[in-house]
Amino acid sequence: MRYGIFSDVHANIEALDAVTETYKTEGIDKYLCIGDIIGYAASPRECLARVFALAEGTVAGNHDFACAGLFNIDNLNPVAREAILWTAAQLGPGEKTRLKSLELTYQNEDLTLVHGSLSEPEQFYYLFEEGLARDSFAVQKTAVCFIGHTHIPATFVTDEHKNISYTRNNLIEIKPGNKYIINVGSVGQPRDGNPKACFCIYDTDKQSVSIKRAAYDIKKTQGKIIDAGLPGYLAERLSLGR
Ligand code: ZN
Repeated sequence: MRYGIFSDVHANIEALDAVTETYKTEGIDKYLCIGDIIGYAASPRECLARVFALAEGTVAGNHDFACAGLFNIDNLNPVAREAILWTAAQLGPGEKTRLKSLELTYQNEDLTLVHGSLSEPEQFYYLFEEGLARDSFAVQKTAVCFIGHTHIPATFVTDEHKNISYTRNNLIEIKPGNKYIINVGSVGQPRDGNPKACFCIYDTDKQSVSIKRAAYDIKKTQGKIIDAGLPGYLAERLSLGR
């Protein structure tokens, strides 16, 4: 089985198109999405339609829930808040109902998905450090858990002695006895210094996960953000990958 797993599209349809075009050349059997389909860029409705048609499983991100009124935005930074209010105003009742129905976690025989952390997934913690990774590993039932939310591709590994290590490698070999938390990065707003759309492939026969990148028309996305009256910073950061 070859899974196409992606996260944090953030209403960037040009990046999503580039990723799906690349996936088509990769022989993907099943697509899964780790949330934050919307929020930030200017194509929320197109991205929702595309992801819901493509992915067999999608979990909720904080922006998805916020736009549907299920996540409090008072503590978010002003730019994120403005984008969420703009996005919520674009959506119809059917789209909001669909967003509200998203689960916080997804699990099958091969893997688990959660946007932030398996420990209190409704809190959408940013899984940057070992302590939070340990809490998440403690409730992880499958060997591999895929996450998003930080927009930075990275992997935590724990061995049978519960030693945790961290890697930024783009090719991860899944070894028996270990558990993995793999952040797949962001399709629509990468923050690791590389502006190309980020996504991953999990091949269960080879037991390997590869993090991939796809170039897209960033200028087009930036133009749409500006034309929509969204904060200019949301356009600027796309060419920086920050
Ligand atoms: Zn996000």
